[in-house]
Amino acid sequence: MSSDSTFLGDLPPDDFRAAAHAAVDWIADYLEHATQLPVKSRVQPGAIRAALPTSAPTKGEPLEAMLRDFRDTIMPGITHWNHPGFFAYFANSASYPGILGELLAAGINANGMLWVTSPAVTELEQVSLDWLRQLMGLGDGWFGQITDTASVSTFYALAAAREQAGLDVRMQGMAGRADMPRLRVYCSEHAHSSIDKAVIALGLGHENLVKVPADENFRMRPDALESAIQADIAAGFRPIAVVPCVGTTSMTSVDPVRAVVRIARAHGCWVHVDAAYGGVTAIVPEMRHLMDGTDDADSFVVNPHKWLFTPMDCSVMYTKHPEALKRAFALLPEYLITSTQDETVNLMDYGIQLGRRFRSLKLWMVMRAYGAEGIAERIRFHCDLARDFAGMVHFESGGWELTAPVTMSLVCFRYAPSGLSEADIARANAAIMERVNADGRAYLSHTKLNGKYTLRLAIGNIRTDRSHVETAWAELRSAAAAI
Ligand SMILES: *Cc1c(COP(=O)(O)O)cnc(C)c1O
Repeated sequence: MSSDSTFLGDLPPDDFRAAAHAAVDWIADYLEHATQLPVKSRVQPGAIRAALPTSAPTKGEPLEAMLRDFRDTIMPGITHWNHPGFFAYFANSASYPGILGELLAAGINANGMLWVTSPAVTELEQVSLDWLRQLMGLGDGWFGQITDTASVSTFYALAAAREQAGLDVRMQGMAGRADMPRLRVYCSEHAHSSIDKAVIALGLGHENLVKVPADENFRMRPDALESAIQADIAAGFRPIAVVPCVGTTSMTSVDPVRAVVRIARAHGCWVHVDAAYGGVTAIVPEMRHLMDGTDDADSFVVNPHKWLFTPMDCSVMYTKHPEALKRAFALLPEYLITSTQDETVNLMDYGIQLGRRFRSLKLWMVMRAYGAEGIAERIRFHCDLARDFAGMVHFESGGWELTAPVTMSLVCFRYAPSGLSEADIARANAAIMERVNADGRAYLSHTKLNGKYTLRLAIGNIRTDRSHVETAWAELRSAAAAI
């Protein structure tokens, strides 16, 4: 260090205070007036990049300059997930309490890698996940941890399932072993690609993810699962896990978890339920049956950052076998040994990441701000809106049709006037979607259901009201009339 080095520290506290107050005011205005913005960003590829300097400034710049550029240059490149007209993919929302939790977590910047590095980070995570478990009506015996996404939660679950199979993959790996059968994992043909990615990343081989056929309502067929497993066993493979889904991504179908568990148990398989989107319906008493059977599974994932009004990112992985996660992941280098390690949970033992941000704070604030009833009423309202929208589509005489049952807050539908070929219908619906999305008041996405091009209207933003759904429907009809 040279002798003339001086302490600089951070910016003056008052600069932060002024900019942060301005930023909070900006957020409040933004959320209140988001409907005035086009939901889907209209920028061309590369436009944001081209508008920004190609290297960092040599001298520091004032915070106000950054806030101005954020507003003028960055915001045009934002698609407004917090817009009540956002109906694409799975709509989500950052609610006020969730945003507060995120802000405070950034302020304290605690790293909960070990219990001792911030006891509250570990303990609030356990408390809030226990609250969430109870809200969902699930029994005791579930251990929960927060991850960034369902993709990682599912990866952890399958890593634990592989360890539970007793083949000592942790020590010996899987390659070059005469005693290692091919390990097989099963999910429905409509399962999310995160299952594929987990299987790939765990070295199980993509070929060893068996896609089980579904019935006419897009639910995994238990008889087909049973025969797939039996055929694999006969061929010398070793089934290790089944991943049913409660609320598939394309059409929110619900696999028969209870029947899947029964079959999986008979063959010694781990059951991981992918309820990334649909799990929160269990908070609504009359919808709880959708999660039926999950209490007997080995693990499941639910994403508060999808339909529980919690800002990105916050996924929750629950398991009945935390010790299997530990067997898969726990390691203790010298510098992480603490005097309290035997009496406390150290969340680093249950997954890959060491550092852990304080994600439970926002989830805790969301649950407290709305309460069990407030959450249930909001989810129920979204499902009511979806049913009403489905009714409008169903009773419209001009060639609209529903393409999947409405089980939650997602409606799958399309414009299919008689006489059009399947290819013409696909083109027409793509054009309708493009027109609606370009207009800016609503944003929808699409999927293919058994080869049928289908539009999806997913309701899940906390600020979405009936008027936003009606606007989307009006836009869809006028787009259909115009193509
Ligand atoms: C969204 C979704 C996922 C993936 O969620 P991420 O948190 O983005 O990884 C997985 N499964 C289902 C059923 C989903 O809807």
